[in-house]
Amino acid sequence: MNLARFPRVRLTHAPTTLEHLPNLTRFFGGPEIFIKRDDNTGLATGGNKARKLEFLIGEALSLKATHVVTQGATQSNHVRQTVAAARKFGLGATALLEERISDGNPDYYGSGNVLLDRLLGATIETRPGGIDMNAEIAVVGEHLKKEGEIPYLIPGGGSNPVGALGYVVCAQELIWQSNERGLNIDHVVHATGSAGTQAGLLVGLEAQNAGIPVLGVSVRAPKEKQEENVCLLAQKTWDFLGCRGDFPRAAVAVDSAYVGDGYGRPTRGMVEAVTLLARHEGILLDPVYTGKGFAGLIDLIRKGFFRKGQNVVFIHTGGSAGLWGYRDAFGFFDPLATHSGQR
Ligand SMILES: *Cc1c(COP(=O)(O)O)cnc(C)c1O
Repeated sequence: MNLARFPRVRLTHAPTTLEHLPNLTRFFGGPEIFIKRDDNTGLATGGNKARKLEFLIGEALSLKATHVVTQGATQSNHVRQTVAAARKFGLGATALLEERISDGNPDYYGSGNVLLDRLLGATIETRPGGIDMNAEIAVVGEHLKKEGEIPYLIPGGGSNPVGALGYVVCAQELIWQSNERGLNIDHVVHATGSAGTQAGLLVGLEAQNAGIPVLGVSVRAPKEKQEENVCLLAQKTWDFLGCRGDFPRAAVAVDSAYVGDGYGRPTRGMVEAVTLLARHEGILLDPVYTGKGFAGLIDLIRKGFFRKGQNVVFIHTGGSAGLWGYRDAFGFFDPLATHSGQR
């Protein structure tokens, strides 16, 4: 795969480390659990969008853009990293935040990623939940043009064939690391939302003929819908890269059993996963994506989906900045609660 022909900037501390989790592996007594630390990509607290933004900002600069426009949920990690990347390359940044959760929680609306968006100097606008947000950024782009700017629009999650190239790179990195240390990876698991991470990973792994199955744990859409989203984007990315023939659709696998009440809504499994990783390995997951993704991994381990001795890699896609927006979900961490005996 010739990725050098695509415009790209450098944003990530790559390769991210591939770490064994000995304590958690012992705790469950199932497969060997590994974690690829894409939470440590380095861009304004890190996360998976940094990899996509290397190619997205690369394209923006090649088009002489002056201003980046994107969108996401209120506590979007994608928005935070996009604003940071735009800033680093001297571009203006406008973010439209979709109010998918409307419970008026001040942490959710003011802390975590929102605090960082403000700190990074984004122009923030809000929109009600459930509208076509990619249509909204197009409208903002037109306004910016009238003001003399050259806007570059980035869809939600940075998930288009350009952004997905970032996860083709991650697939190359992962195979290189597994070969380097003689680690035969049996399964990859990660959280899937706007589909770019899974599409890019699958295209990268298939194009290398890796033979490693990938399971996306959905944080929003039902299984069939999410598999379709991933397939469509994977095929586009496959074509964009110039791979021959059709992308093998059968490689796409999504489990949507861990969404709970909906996107961004806490679940018991998420709280358990975040807490276990913190207390056994000192690693921070996030409430919206990796907490639910890891909850899926834990449940599948308990159900015997993986055999003892198999090597399972969880891709930690970041998001811990969102923890500050979800203090309520982790109420038992409140020092005021410790007198009731909870630790
Ligand atoms: C965006 C995001 C994901 C999902 O990646 P997609 O490419 O949107 O599917 C997973 N984890 C975190 C922390 C994210 O911010």
